[in-house]
Amino acid sequence: MNPELILDPLNAAQREAVSAPDANLLVLAGAGSGKTRVLVHRIAWLVHEFGVMPFGIMAVTFTNKAAAEMRARLEQMLDISTRGMWVGTFHGLSHRFLRAHWEQAGLPQNFQILDSDDQLRVIKRVTRDMNLDEDRWPPKQTQWWINSHKDEGRRAFEIEDHGEPVQSTLLSVYRQYEAACERGGMVDFAELLLRSWELWLKDAALLAHYRQRFQHLLVDEFQDTNTIQYKWLRALAGPEARVTAVGDDDQSIYGWRGAKIENIHQFQRDFTGVRLVRLEQNYRSTANILNAANAVIANNYGRLGKNLWTDGGEGDPITLYAAFNEQDEARYIVDELQKWIAAGHQRAESAILYRSNAQSRVLEEALLRAGIPYRVYGGLRFYERLEIKNALAYLRLLLNRNDDAAFERVVNTPPRGIGTSTIDAIRAAARTRSVPLWAAAKDIASSLPARARNALQGFIDMVNQLQRDIDSLELAEKVDRVLLVTGLLEYHRTEKGERGETRVENLEELVSACRAFTPEDPERGAMEQFLDTASLDAGDTQAEEFEDSVQLMTLHSAKGLEYPLVFLAGMEENLFPHAMSREEPGRLEEERRLCYVGITRAMQRLIMSYAESRRLHGRETMNGMSRFLREIPPELLQEIRPRLQVTRPMGSWNSSNKWGQTPISHGPKKMGSDPIFLGGGRGGFRQEESEGLRLGQRVRHPRFGEGVVIGFEGQGAHARVNVNFATEGAKWLVVSMAKLESV
Ligand code: ATP
Ligand code: MG
Repeated sequence: MNPELILDPLNAAQREAVSAPDANLLVLAGAGSGKTRVLVHRIAWLVHEFGVMPFGIMAVTFTNKAAAEMRARLEQMLDISTRGMWVGTFHGLSHRFLRAHWEQAGLPQNFQILDSDDQLRVIKRVTRDMNLDEDRWPPKQTQWWINSHKDEGRRAFEIEDHGEPVQSTLLSVYRQYEAACERGGMVDFAELLLRSWELWLKDAALLAHYRQRFQHLLVDEFQDTNTIQYKWLRALAGPEARVTAVGDDDQSIYGWRGAKIENIHQFQRDFTGVRLVRLEQNYRSTANILNAANAVIANNYGRLGKNLWTDGGEGDPITLYAAFNEQDEARYIVDELQKWIAAGHQRAESAILYRSNAQSRVLEEALLRAGIPYRVYGGLRFYERLEIKNALAYLRLLLNRNDDAAFERVVNTPPRGIGTSTIDAIRAAARTRSVPLWAAAKDIASSLPARARNALQGFIDMVNQLQRDIDSLELAEKVDRVLLVTGLLEYHRTEKGERGETRVENLEELVSACRAFTPEDPERGAMEQFLDTASLDAGDTQAEEFEDSVQLMTLHSAKGLEYPLVFLAGMEENLFPHAMSREEPGRLEEERRLCYVGITRAMQRLIMSYAESRRLHGRETMNGMSRFLREIPPELLQEIRPRLQVTRPMGSWNSSNKWGQTPISHGPKKMGSDPIFLGGGRGGFRQEESEGLRLGQRVRHPRFGEGVVIGFEGQGAHARVNVNFATEGAKWLVVSMAKLESV
């Protein structure tokens, strides 16, 4: 192949990087400037021009998917097999290494990888074996403490015991945990890296072998490497290998998980003769999108600073939708998607990005209703998430004690001392007597040893008592009580770090879902109907991998990706920037970098939205628009008002405005300055009718009380009406079933 083919599709700066002499190279550049492209073409160049064998190349990517794409691209460009090449994530590559050298690494051949949940279980067992009180020493916090040391490359024996009681205790748990992993041949995620690194330091011959083999190391998304990853890279590279690192300090978004932006500076000090190349031309986004991103990130301090430009056109203005609430936001997004698809675009060319996992529920429901296939990228759909499935299993068991699957799921979740031997005994008894697990448990409880008996009887009594207690409550209050009494909420609350928080948020979101749920069949209980809906939502409606579908994901998992149409939903204070960022210094800047990542995923169209009022995590909030929106120059934005103006005070209503989405040309100066009153009903807006109801009409519902009609959807038997209730917030109801009365 002709070297021109490798260089042709590149600009001058990219060519300089790709064809740089065979030495250490750092490409530092903003989003969409072609860093990943440079990395791939650099590999092609190494093979083609410098005659490097694919066998001698290791490339570190951010996800396995990115690794697969990189291979495909190379095979197409070079027409060679990339099989000998090591391309993958830090964890994946370490794993591959340890599988090949388990013996030298002191591991059994069939060593087990512990995922985060498995790891927690082991730490729990250790805590218990050491007779430590789990309330004082929450295993989740211990897990976080241990992992943060491992991510820094520190073993327990390397940590100095200051004799301070808390630290001493955690340290001994760490020691015991290491011993337990050792005995069981278990390796957690951080261990994969740590153990590979240690093996290299210990076994000079082995290290020499790998250094000899991998003369070329290339790392994408370098700004998000943590300490152990950096050490790993340095050890493997040694003084001889040539490292190409590409990254963007403005896109460092994993500080909360130990990533160190400083590694970019450190790289220039630790490696010799590093050639620095900056790329400044962005090929991904329109000028409007790029200018918005540049304006936002300019508010951060201590940046390495860069000047990103595009010679593409201005493109469409960025749309900003000020939604009435989260339902209205989701509906708007679905409407825009439908227009986009109708215009002949692929669904897969669009992505909806959000800050918190829990936000996906309302969006998923709106997509399901509209019959638009979607995929939740890098995560589970709401009703498939572990904590949600656990909570639903409790509800199922409350409704039906014979639900064995539900019983199995929750009998020891959260852990309450019902061990595997007890559960095995229950299973055996159920089998011999041919009764459900619940009945078997009741039967054998008294014959168990005291500790197991108390634990099991405690569980049975709790479920029975809970059922009596919640009997007269509304659905949302029922679920709220279940989360509390069963200890599920507390269990995740003590889980340190983002993971625990996410689970708590999801559980609270489940309460929101119940509050917004309107049972349609008066003959059956609300909880039963809710469970039906939830299991349908969790069913096989998720689009298949190959099916053309809209992509849903958190901002964190959108790193490195790009889409012609991007929605950034939930642009509100406390949601984004996340409320957590108020507490820790540096976090707000990390949130802003995350916003920069989000905006720069968009190629042609960017649609941002925020809700005046949002029910999330079980609470109604009015956070106001995100500060990041105010950081975007107004002339880049086109604000769209909700089609339903019930929240507007009369005086501010301009009678020439029509129903429908109304562009307001003067940008965000005015936004947020209009006082917004919830509860509506002030009138002063045009009226629209459907099924005998008018917009703005006051109505009464037998259960939800008084409210104001704020929207319609569908016709005839399917007609639905949106009513903003004084106490319950906005709800969609089927007109023919809702029994609304005019007041
Ligand atoms: P991020 O910071 O988001 O990871 P990046 O710097 O890695 O972005 P790439 O993903 O490599 O950027 O490139 C962004 C887009 O621009 C891609 O669609 C890529 O194909 C395109 N691109 C990059 N360089 C050029 C070029 N010289 N000519 C045309 N298109 C280009
Ligand atoms: Mg990239």
